[in-house]
Amino acid sequence: MKAILDHIGIAVRDLGAALAFYRDALGLEVEALEEVGSEHVRAQFVGVGESSLELLEATAPDSPIAKWIEKRGPGLHHITLRVEDIAAALAELKGRGAKLIDEQPRPGAEGALVAFVHPSSAHGVLVELKQSAVGGRHQPGAVQDFGPAHTRSDGVTRYSLGDFELISLSDGFFRLDGGSMFGVVPRPLWSQKAPPDDRNRITLAMRPLIVRGARTMIIDAGLGDKEHPKFLELYGVERARNLEHSLAEAGLTADDVDIVLATDLHFDHAGGFTMCDAGGRLRPRFPRAQYVVRRGEWEDATHLHERSRASYFRDNFAPLADAGVLQLVDTDQTIMPGVRVQRTGGHTMHHQIVWIESAGKDAVFVADLMPTTAHLSQLWITGYDLYPMDTLAAKQALAREALERKTLVFFEHDPAVAAGYISEENGTHTVVPLW
Ligand SMILES: [Zn+2]
Repeated sequence: MKAILDHIGIAVRDLGAALAFYRDALGLEVEALEEVGSEHVRAQFVGVGESSLELLEATAPDSPIAKWIEKRGPGLHHITLRVEDIAAALAELKGRGAKLIDEQPRPGAEGALVAFVHPSSAHGVLVELKQSAVGGRHQPGAVQDFGPAHTRSDGVTRYSLGDFELISLSDGFFRLDGGSMFGVVPRPLWSQKAPPDDRNRITLAMRPLIVRGARTMIIDAGLGDKEHPKFLELYGVERARNLEHSLAEAGLTADDVDIVLATDLHFDHAGGFTMCDAGGRLRPRFPRAQYVVRRGEWEDATHLHERSRASYFRDNFAPLADAGVLQLVDTDQTIMPGVRVQRTGGHTMHHQIVWIESAGKDAVFVADLMPTTAHLSQLWITGYDLYPMDTLAAKQALAREALERKTLVFFEHDPAVAAGYISEENGTHTVVPLW
């Protein structure tokens, strides 16, 4: 196993005082500041050659860093080793009887996968293993292309694009069979990018996107909360933090949404379109919104066949028609100024993606055309796709266009990356994550 020292985490009582030493007295260069809301931690990276120091300050008394300092005082907290294949590294350690805090890798910052090894197996040091995202760290300067820098906090990422603010939200995670998610790609290849659990399932996110301009639009709405425990278990659903939380974190309520736009009507996109009220009646989740759906997709969702039955649930969309808030569109068109839909087919016959354009900049929400960054590779097409050859053609066209136009691409189901740029090196496309 080859490992590179990525960074050293140091627990500090006062970040300002720590910077007075590391930045001012030692003259080290300050890098990114990160807030991890869920952990109540603020992390300031300081560059030291190929590696960094990560100064960790608690932002609340119940933060793990506060507890650490209380017990041991400030000082060395962890070291992070970057490995090429985190799943293989964990398997190796486990095989040798090492005590792991994380048996499976989990999403970390910047699109990385991380896992902690218990100090008792590492001679008193907490060791974090890290596998960088497909495209590595984002390039400095990339952010400037999109005006004011984005900010990130647990599940909510903000971007500015011309006159729009784009806010990537989270409705939590679910799991699908890894083989089904990558079609003809053999497991030894896909399992490196998407480590499976003991039931061969991989973790997928649900990331609806808010487009805020003169009006407020949400693209897709995640799974919602109408599903039964058996379903939740089967699909490994984790919605402890869901759309409700991330809307609130973005400073929005369901009442703020004017338009709900569907890319397709599968349960992981349309589940959050409706809800049960106190009387057990189904009603639209966004009370003031018009819901925009492609007519062909609507027809398919309301006329099931054997292959589509498992994905379309009437309760997610039929109440929209009953409430008179459904707007069906027939063609590629502008939904609100600067936002247009384009049919790609592939995943479903009428699956559509969404282009967002303002002040000469653009972004695209690719939905199930490329559910994760791993699906950028041309032949990595899910087994769920009804028309894989259409997916292939649409993906090739999209990658070309996004590369040429420096489009910010939003990935609806990637567990670690909300959005990124496509870059090309020696004819191979990769994603440079922007979180
Ligand atoms: Zn999907």
